[in-house]
Amino acid sequence: MKPTPSPGALFIVSTPIGNLEDITFRAVRILAEADVILAEDTRVTGRLLSHYEIKTRQLSYYAQNEKGRIPQAIQLLRGGSNLALVSDAGTPGISDPAHRLVKACITADIPIIPVPGPSASLAALVASGLPTDRFVFEGFLPRKKGRQTKLQQLAEEPGTIIIYESALRIQKTLQDIGKHFGNRYIVISRELTKKFEEFIRGEAQEVLLQLKDRTLKGEIVLLVAGRDFKSFDS
Ligand code: SAM
Repeated sequence: MKPTPSPGALFIVSTPIGNLEDITFRAVRILAEADVILAEDTRVTGRLLSHYEIKTRQLSYYAQNEKGRIPQAIQLLRGGSNLALVSDAGTPGISDPAHRLVKACITADIPIIPVPGPSASLAALVASGLPTDRFVFEGFLPRKKGRQTKLQQLAEEPGTIIIYESALRIQKTLQDIGKHFGNRYIVISRELTKKFEEFIRGEAQEVLLQLKDRTLKGEIVLLVAGRDFKSFDS
């Protein structure tokens, strides 16, 4: 009888959110040693791999194909392959696909090994100057259904609120925040770790005025002071 191979492991590998140097030595080694890299967009990950001269084979894994990919990944893992899961940027699973695969691996008794690294959420939080002892991560706000209810709930949140937002919708979101939260202190963290990294800090109305004649570009994390925030001086 043929012995059953021991399963490989699923490595959840965090990758840079802009600056390609923001990757751990361990992440580079795991990506190089893995049998297959599951990548959200193989072209995006291809640039990272070529920067570090990593030749590992890639297989796409994104929201629209994960249903089909999960059984394929489980089969590879059961056969003894080690898989590294990456997203386009930052930590897989944080507003990026990963969760379903992680759950499926747990059900199949396959080891899950996190390889921590950057996430736009925490980079923005620690540079914001807003309290870090208590915070809530909201990811992307609903665009339509449930948006106003969500904002009403968040207005009562005592800790700092972390929101992912696109440059196209930031003005609208700031207006909605003004409506539900009053003139709350906010921080726009834009293009973190990239050439045009920028932090715009102030009360929502004041920031809206600043942005009146400006079109923001790039990627944004919006931080909103919690209900209990008084001011920077207190
Ligand atoms: N998994 C990623 C992480 O751990 O940060 C988040 C992926 S989510 C699909 C993409 C969103 O993250 C962007 O729309 C933006 O809100 C935020 N983001 C990613 N990179 C960023 C950067 N360099 N600067 C500011 N925000 C960023």
